[in-house]
Amino acid sequence: MIRLILIMRRWSISVIAVVAAVSVTIAMSVEPAAASRGKVGVAAAFYPVAFAAERVGGARVAVTNLTPVGAEPHDLELNSDQLDRLLGAKVAFVLGSDFQPAVEKAADRRDGPTVELLPKLVDARGKKVAKEGQTGGLDPHVWLDPVLMSQLVGEVERGLAAADPKGAATYRRNAQALQDQLAALDARYRDRLTGCARNLLVTSHEAFGYLATRYGLHQQGVAGLSPDQEPDPARLGELAQLARDQGVTTVFTEETVSPRIAQTLARDAGGLRTEVLSPLESLSKKERADKADYFSLMDANLGKIATALGCPPRS
Ligand SMILES: [Zn+2]
Repeated sequence: MIRLILIMRRWSISVIAVVAAVSVTIAMSVEPAAASRGKVGVAAAFYPVAFAAERVGGARVAVTNLTPVGAEPHDLELNSDQLDRLLGAKVAFVLGSDFQPAVEKAADRRDGPTVELLPKLVDARGKKVAKEGQTGGLDPHVWLDPVLMSQLVGEVERGLAAADPKGAATYRRNAQALQDQLAALDARYRDRLTGCARNLLVTSHEAFGYLATRYGLHQQGVAGLSPDQEPDPARLGELAQLARDQGVTTVFTEETVSPRIAQTLARDAGGLRTEVLSPLESLSKKERADKADYFSLMDANLGKIATALGCPPRS
């Protein structure tokens, strides 16, 4: 009898252990599916990519943006929850080329497909569009050029269709609608930035290179491609001189980094204005509360750039 009880106790302990193990497994494997309620789980490395995935995927997808609201995506480190979401997603989209080394390295551990977007963007001759920045390294900021953003949307569409072939027609339709909106945005930029008094953009963070090239402008960044790079005093002096020579009115800064350096330059160059441009790398809490999105921020940037460059007013 004692022996039987012992056996039964052992048996029930192992049952409990098995039940516990099974529920842990279920919790781990069901969590992403339950969270997305039968939708295709998509991990997107930062805001513009998440925006593209949400708009192209529509109701078929549940998108996780790995860069939290208000955070700065360059050099983002993932916490364990973000890592789980990245590893558990059906398809992941990252920019690639070391924009976010920790995210891109973690994505290598995924079983499912990961699409690296930047290396896929090529021009009409098949040459990669990614260019070196002033301080070396590939410039990641393609999403600030509406034409390159449209290409990026096309790659997101292909990635979603490969992961979820049943949705291919929906993804094609949604991508086309988004690309039409981007073409209209491109037309607004072209129109507004024609006939301006100046063409030099002085920015705290060298994020506007592709945009500048697209619309015949020049960019001089105070810091480098990543906003936390500190400029040397010689660079600041050189920029202050250039700003004076070219009649620059405005030094552009941004919300997620300290405006200190831009303010120093604005003062050294003879009392210039500072103005905030969004690099669209993430939405701030306020932007999210105001329901800002890629298009509203791109249009706000356009208005500020046009004012700074003395572009003719448009009706
Ligand atoms: Zn940046």
